[in-house]
Amino acid sequence: MAVAAALVVAPVSSTDLPSGFAAITSKIPNPWSAFRNLTGCHFGEQQQGVAKVKDYLSHFGYLPQSSSGFTDLFDADLEEAIKVYQRNFGLNISGVMDAPTVAQMMAPRCGVADVINGTSTMGGASSHVHGRNLYTYFPGSPTWPRSRKSLRYFITQTAATTIDRATLSLVFERAFARWSAATTLNFTEAASAKDADITIGFYAGDHGDGEAFDGPLGTLAHAFSPTDGRFHLDAAEAWVATGDVSRASSDVAVDLESVAVHEIGHLLGLGHSSEPGAIMYPTITSRTRKVDLASDDVVGIQSLYGGNPNFKGVAPPATSSRDMDSGAGASSRPWSALVAVVAVAAGLVVAL
Ligand SMILES: [Zn+2]
Ligand SMILES: [Zn+2]
Repeated sequence: MAVAAALVVAPVSSTDLPSGFAAITSKIPNPWSAFRNLTGCHFGEQQQGVAKVKDYLSHFGYLPQSSSGFTDLFDADLEEAIKVYQRNFGLNISGVMDAPTVAQMMAPRCGVADVINGTSTMGGASSHVHGRNLYTYFPGSPTWPRSRKSLRYFITQTAATTIDRATLSLVFERAFARWSAATTLNFTEAASAKDADITIGFYAGDHGDGEAFDGPLGTLAHAFSPTDGRFHLDAAEAWVATGDVSRASSDVAVDLESVAVHEIGHLLGLGHSSEPGAIMYPTITSRTRKVDLASDDVVGIQSLYGGNPNFKGVAPPATSSRDMDSGAGASSRPWSALVAVVAVAAGLVVAL
């Protein structure tokens, strides 16, 4: 699979990685770049930085929180958590911090968790439930009421971004249109927050929901499951709202519309997918545009809200590996607090 590994900051060179990985050096620190120092680390080892991997895996639901703080010992729980992570991302299930796993962990991503309440929302589990599809729902499959075909959104917080409001309106309008094209839902921009079902804002660092943003790369955005309606973006990202993101001058440029399409999937009730071509795949590569729903996304959303008879079908799969990864950086907590179980019959319980 093509993995979102383009944001490797240094010594992992592209020659160390399977084809499809591209190492881009950057002077801007990736909050997870120190993971590269753990390449090859495995069960039984004690190494500085292992606790940070545990923090990371805990944040995305693969390990329970630790009230006393994590240690740097690579223990059996960590090995098991890494195996579940590797399964979810289609990596070789080694339980070792091998180079592809490190690269995947360093990729910018959505902050929403992959595993909620010990049940994987991704991977083989849900493929059981949905046949060949890999899409997932939040625990309990929350949706907007079936009677609500029109949802209103409002852009609330823009002080932390330099992108002008008119441009933002156009970007979010296009992102919502991707989902309305496939379903019976439609979306309109409200005149004020109090008239809106969905609120969208840019925030820096800690912004009061327990899911602080982490600066450039790392987590990019997060959104809450229905019917919460909150969608937060990390104001510190090098967002590209117009033009060709692949030609952006910054190595860490992130396409705003691509992340918006992903987060709207969450707002409507979709969880993460293990399908690398799906919009709902958790990671995205910098300087990459990925806005077309894949059939995995379409089947998932139509199962919740019904199909649009005028839907033209999905675009052909991207041929470039750079188009395969998407990520949005949300955090898991917003959801775990709101939802209780994941894709019901997931059956893939993390052994913690
Ligand atoms: Zn996500
Ligand atoms: Zn937030």
